[in-house]
Amino acid sequence: MTPTPTHPITVLGGQNVVGGSKIVYQFAPQFSFLFDFGFDFDRANTILDRYLSPRIFNKFVDKLRTGFLPIPTTQTGGVYRSDLVIDSLETIATFTNPAPFIQPPYVKAAFLSHAHTDHVGEVRYLHESIPLVCSTTTAKLLEIFETIQRGELFTGILNYTDIEGKSHSRKVKHLISGRPWNWGKNMTITAYETDHSLPGATAFLVNDKKNNCKLIYTGDLRWHGLNQKRVTTFVEAAKQFSPDYLIIEQTNLGEHKGKPTTLSEEQVGNQLKHVVKECQGIVWMEWAHGDMSRLQMIALAAEHTNRNVVLPAMDYLFLRECIAAKIPEVKGLSLNRFRVFLPRKKSGTYIPKDYSYDHALYTLCLTKDEEKLKLRAKYQHIDLNQTFLITASELQKSPQSFLAYHDIFKMYHWVDCVPTSDDVYIISKSRIDEPEAMLLWDKRKAWLDLFGFTKDRVHQIHASGHLYPKDYERMVNEINPKHIIKVHGETN
Ligand SMILES: [Zn+2]
Repeated sequence: MTPTPTHPITVLGGQNVVGGSKIVYQFAPQFSFLFDFGFDFDRANTILDRYLSPRIFNKFVDKLRTGFLPIPTTQTGGVYRSDLVIDSLETIATFTNPAPFIQPPYVKAAFLSHAHTDHVGEVRYLHESIPLVCSTTTAKLLEIFETIQRGELFTGILNYTDIEGKSHSRKVKHLISGRPWNWGKNMTITAYETDHSLPGATAFLVNDKKNNCKLIYTGDLRWHGLNQKRVTTFVEAAKQFSPDYLIIEQTNLGEHKGKPTTLSEEQVGNQLKHVVKECQGIVWMEWAHGDMSRLQMIALAAEHTNRNVVLPAMDYLFLRECIAAKIPEVKGLSLNRFRVFLPRKKSGTYIPKDYSYDHALYTLCLTKDEEKLKLRAKYQHIDLNQTFLITASELQKSPQSFLAYHDIFKMYHWVDCVPTSDDVYIISKSRIDEPEAMLLWDKRKAWLDLFGFTKDRVHQIHASGHLYPKDYERMVNEINPKHIIKVHGETN
């Protein structure tokens, strides 16, 4: 899509697919800004494989050549990090139009709707001068992810080291929900925190007075979550705003395999309570990492039945950091209700040395003795006598005391803690919400069969993180924009 004077919006990624959102708005000939700059999981599923991924030494160019990163045009010229561009000049010279790579950055900001990878995953490649604009919660989550994650997905977004070894920190502007921000003389942006399967999701209302153009970007959102009031407040403001353009997510509008869910988050909570209460054994359950609304519902069901929630170490660490950062969506959650599963690793005998490379467990079990830290080898810092840790045999001894996180990657743990006919399995996520999990759907079923989970002991209880079709209709009708641009989903 080429921008024209009457259509200043270009969708660079995320049209007709779920994820990889990248949208650019042209304000003036040498001034544009971005909404999101996400990783395209759909493309990854299509062309990549376990042993087929961009090469570490050439990732930037490999991603440009294979369509993960858009080739800059004049409008998005200078959008990429100068160190990467300079390092790749020889290859860039072979592109049809290399000039926009080396022009001064015309992109003046990147507005981030939320911290899901399909919205922020490629921000690490953006030019160092481009500030990030987001909600305070999103900024805090990005910080937490960067601190606790060792993986590549969240590194280099806020801070990165360039190819010469110099450290850089990106400028971050926090927007307070509902408070207008004047960006220069001619533009006012108002952010509204909404509701999604990750805290901090935000919609942006942009009033471009120079071009007499008003637009809204919804990001990912839903109207059936625990924060419905926020969404209603956003819709009310959007209605008053009378936008020319509404860029709206349409995740649940397309054709998808599987039965679509229509539950609200509250109904999920009620169904969970019922299933957990009826269960005479261990409740095994999987849900999307980072979904704090779901975790609230799970914690309530666990409290109701006097169970503890057993999390993977990384999820516990993330929750701990969210509580410390006072993320509003974890309000009321206490670590006392949660335990950490200690899997058998390497030697299989629960010795500290086995966990040296488990970053989350290592961080959680680190002894505080600074002197010892200096003197000892890494594994000797790990204290496995923490009361929050729980092993497979402890789970088995008191099955009715636990609701344990379990997903496809943890299936071998069932060899150590064999499920009984009293156990149930709850699937609390969908193919739509986690496109990367689609390929594993059938494998999970095979494992459930293998360990004797009959149909009546497998429950699917889920509310989508995205607008249901009826709420999409309602939202569009209420906002009543002149033009609609659908993103983040298959076009009907
Ligand atoms: Zn999302």
